[in-house]
Amino acid sequence: MVAALASLVEAESPSDQPAALRACAEVIAGLITERLGSPPGEGPHLLWSGGGPTRVLLLGHYDTVWPLGTAAHWPFRVDGDRATGPGSFDMKAGIVQMVEAVATLESTDGVALLLTADEELGSQTSRALIEDTARGAAAALVCEPSLGGRLKSSRKGTGMYTVRVHGRAAHAGLEPEKGANALIGLAEVVLAAARLGDPARGTTVVPTVAMAGSATNVVPAEARVELDVRIAEPAEADRVDADVRRLQSGIGGTTVTVEGGPNRPPMPASASTALLALAEECAADARRVGGRRRRPARRGRARPRPCHVRPGGPPRRADPPPELSPNAQASVTAPRSAPWARRAYLARTPVG
Ligand SMILES: [Zn+2]
Repeated sequence: MVAALASLVEAESPSDQPAALRACAEVIAGLITERLGSPPGEGPHLLWSGGGPTRVLLLGHYDTVWPLGTAAHWPFRVDGDRATGPGSFDMKAGIVQMVEAVATLESTDGVALLLTADEELGSQTSRALIEDTARGAAAALVCEPSLGGRLKSSRKGTGMYTVRVHGRAAHAGLEPEKGANALIGLAEVVLAAARLGDPARGTTVVPTVAMAGSATNVVPAEARVELDVRIAEPAEADRVDADVRRLQSGIGGTTVTVEGGPNRPPMPASASTALLALAEECAADARRVGGRRRRPARRGRARPRPCHVRPGGPPRRADPPPELSPNAQASVTAPRSAPWARRAYLARTPVG
């Protein structure tokens, strides 16, 4: 698994580099073919199916935020129980774990594995495929690691906005009064936007990227700010959306336009209750199996039960928890106490 992780990390795959993504997709396809016996479909988003209608979806992404060439000065490296290198943690180690997890199953019927190439850009080209693949599945397991290797059973919803202030250019030294300063207007927008958060409800609205102006001696005609919105309560998405669209610059002669909107709804903890209970049950099973595993004579029986897809066990296809959609980014990963997961954990880098 460490060797597989090395080959994935060495195949750098920034979201905005199609050729690099293709090369990385080939490495992943090779790994899947070798471990699971058949290749995924054509890229850029790689979908592999174990056959039949999807009952359990394992979801991940293989693009990274690291620019091409990062591996030249930060190569893949294993130091004790830590593996590092661009994209090791987010989330190439997760990909290796996903593939190895599926490889341990006695039957892969109903299991699908989807690895997208644009997650770091907001999943705009893969969203429909994710939704189509997950529709009707009983469980979607997002195998991206969370802090400390914990199971993430809830998460906030997100929104992304670009707010633009349009003003009028003029010479800043000779006749600034003839301009309409979009930057000053933006300053008011930024302060007002920052006040739209509601900590008591778990809502944050954070101005992040801002740009304005064209030259030191010109009154800025254009300015913009990007807003990162996170919500814990579904109703907050509409409230924040309406408030963002009401933002004003307060500077005469300027106008404000808004692009973007809510992106992903929140996944409340109640959404994953059933799946979490099942994961805990599997972890307990694996722990018992793990106890026997130390005795070499019984090693043949040591393999953990493929409990996520066993017939008859919850959740059933007939009554899928509707909240386990990829929209909601259900991030329940495999129990760490399973032997394969424990081994996989050794290949995973800590946050940093
Ligand atoms: Zn990620």
